[in-house]
Amino acid sequence: MIHLKDVHKTYPGAVPLHVLKGINLDIERGELVSIMGASGSGKSTLLNILGILDNYDSGEYVLDKRLIRNLGENAAADLRNHLIGFVFQSFNLISYKDAVENVALPLFYQGVSRRKRNAMAIEQLDRMGLREWAHHLPSELSGGQKQRVAIARALITNPAIILADEPTGALDSKTSVEVMKIFRQLNNEGMTTVIVTHDPGVGAQTNRIIRISDGLIIPDSQIVKSQTDMDNKKTDNVSVQHS
Ligand code: ADP
Ligand code: MG
Repeated sequence: MIHLKDVHKTYPGAVPLHVLKGINLDIERGELVSIMGASGSGKSTLLNILGILDNYDSGEYVLDKRLIRNLGENAAADLRNHLIGFVFQSFNLISYKDAVENVALPLFYQGVSRRKRNAMAIEQLDRMGLREWAHHLPSELSGGQKQRVAIARALITNPAIILADEPTGALDSKTSVEVMKIFRQLNNEGMTTVIVTHDPGVGAQTNRIIRISDGLIIPDSQIVKSQTDMDNKKTDNVSVQHS
């Protein structure tokens, strides 16, 4: 579903910032993965490129068999609208629109009639257990409910992939677990899902953790190796105690 080869990204400026330094990454259809790493390591930059919200400078990004490279804003928006559902830490709901209107918004941009998009939005809200909240404003909803509205909005275009940037970052731990349950359920239904998080508890609920450090993916072999080193040290300590 996702193939990145040697992807680089530099933010220009008086002091240009080389944020992604050769990302190689493959995510298969139907995977549920998390991307973890320290603050400033490039997680959001990577996710924004995956979501065609931002361009990269060199390398190759193939999404669902399409090469994503040098797209104009219209082409990018069109692909985004059809292929990708995005979920954000701060929900990004429109404050003066009720839940139905928020969820239906991507369909407005696809030219779907008001009647049809509202019916589809109600259906998605129902799926999220929010039917009774359909005509409430975001300010009348709890954090977990707001995030479920945002997930319903992400799903309404029937995307090929869901990308979530710290989706539990603004939620307490109990609500985080509820939101992760929804992502796991969607994944069980076949949705390819990529979640950026700094919460190890959230990472542990995904099926694969991709670690990023200073703009590079840490190869699994290195993670396994350092784990082995730790195990060896433990064994050494034990043998010292024994002798
Ligand atoms: P993370 O999500 O892992 O915390 P980001 O991808 O947001 O990291 O940021 C990586 C680095 O790039 C940080 O040093 C950040 O300040 C910088 N950065 C992020 N976005 C921009 C931007 N639009 N312009 C310039 N620098 C940016
Ligand atoms: Mg970030």
